[in-house]
Amino acid sequence: MYELTTNRNDIRNELIEIIRCFVSDALTDCSVNFTYVDNEKIVLYISVNSKRYIYSYPKHCESDKIEYARADVYICKLSLYRALSDFFDKTLPWGSLTGIRPTRLAARMLNNGVPLSKISEKLRNDYFVSENKAELTVEILKSQSEHIPDRLSVAGDGNFNNSNLVNLYVHIPFCPTRCSYCSFVSEGVEKKAWLLAPYATALAEEIRRTKDLIRSQNKRIFSVYAGGGTPTTLEPELLFKVLKAATEDGTEYTCEAGRPDTINEEKLHVMSECGVNRISINPQTLHEKTLRKIGRAHTVEQFFNAYELADKFGFVKNVDLIAGLDGETPEDFEYKFNGILKLMPENITVHTLCLKRGSANAQSEAVRSERTQEMVNYSVGALKARGYSPYYLYRQKQTTENLENIGWCRNGFLCVNNVTVMEETLSVYACGAGAIGKLIAPGRIQRIANPKDVLMYLEQFEERMRKKQLFYQNQFTILT
Ligand code: SF4
Repeated sequence: MYELTTNRNDIRNELIEIIRCFVSDALTDCSVNFTYVDNEKIVLYISVNSKRYIYSYPKHCESDKIEYARADVYICKLSLYRALSDFFDKTLPWGSLTGIRPTRLAARMLNNGVPLSKISEKLRNDYFVSENKAELTVEILKSQSEHIPDRLSVAGDGNFNNSNLVNLYVHIPFCPTRCSYCSFVSEGVEKKAWLLAPYATALAEEIRRTKDLIRSQNKRIFSVYAGGGTPTTLEPELLFKVLKAATEDGTEYTCEAGRPDTINEEKLHVMSECGVNRISINPQTLHEKTLRKIGRAHTVEQFFNAYELADKFGFVKNVDLIAGLDGETPEDFEYKFNGILKLMPENITVHTLCLKRGSANAQSEAVRSERTQEMVNYSVGALKARGYSPYYLYRQKQTTENLENIGWCRNGFLCVNNVTVMEETLSVYACGAGAIGKLIAPGRIQRIANPKDVLMYLEQFEERMRKKQLFYQNQFTILT
């Protein structure tokens, strides 16, 4: 436990995020005081327990208010990182970067005139990012730029040149059981089976009306993503109803089929018929004991069978694995990782265990594997050796060892939806219980959320549709 006192309460949460990365029993008291001296320089007085630190910087000369505030926050976080790093004699792979997608920061640098060849150096010098993470960030930026024109980009809040393209997201909030680390909007299907049919009907209707709205605004759907939850929890007839409503010719269309025990030939046929061209099958581990521990009710054999079946339909396949699962050693990780690599799926996503609020084991530090960084490093080497390139990256709060999640692809099979959603470069029109839609423009993002509870979603359907229509039609002139 620790206490933070600061005169910058406006960014308290950001400071706490840095402290959390170092937190240990030795840390009891931390203070951060930010002052301007003679209107010329900024001085940070920091104390960690009773050890004192003073950092001084020239006052920044940003004329733009947002940039000015950003520079203040940067200095506070950087100074706190430097103090804690000294106090604990420890560095973090991402240095003082928290709560940000490093690729977006790199894109902003690029947009501000920093040459690509200098971005890694700048990340290292200005944010204390480690060399391998800085290089990884630049590699991802290159992958994205190579395969997606301009990254379809709100390049660092700058050029917004894709205002007629949007993503369509469809949420199916049911899974066969709930994973112990899950914080998504999803319910175990057993108790809610009676809601599946009305939910699929309402969702298909919401999708149809949303597509009408998109068309009426002369916008075009760039990619479709059906996620959850596990969409394939739905039986074939209901799955068809939902996926067919979202079909859009010529787009990338992804359907998550995360739980191998929900996949069968009939459902794969439905997906194929509805135009789905990418699926995600996610074992997370190839160890039966871990599967039981994390609450997944399928076997390793079921994963391989489902994968083989999906392969026959010609889908581009993604496989998710998690590093840092309870009880798994780096050797266990290597075993499961190599088992997946043998399949050579077009995409592999390596997640780091994240114990978010809302998950069953959020309170338990014991479930984290202590050598997660070794696992992630192993995956980077093995993937590069097999010709995979990293193409998107995101970080979450509460991630083990403050690491990251990375999507890898081979032969340019990157998922454009993942890139544009993670980089927040295209607006998202979202459908379903708990789905969050986003309107995106340079420097501005507004969100609209449907009720998470399925019953409430059904009961408030018409009222929510009206609000949604207004939200998207007014394009930033109203707030929800
Ligand atoms: S499969 Fe995904 S959405 Fe479903 S319970 Fe597990 S983590 Fe949550």
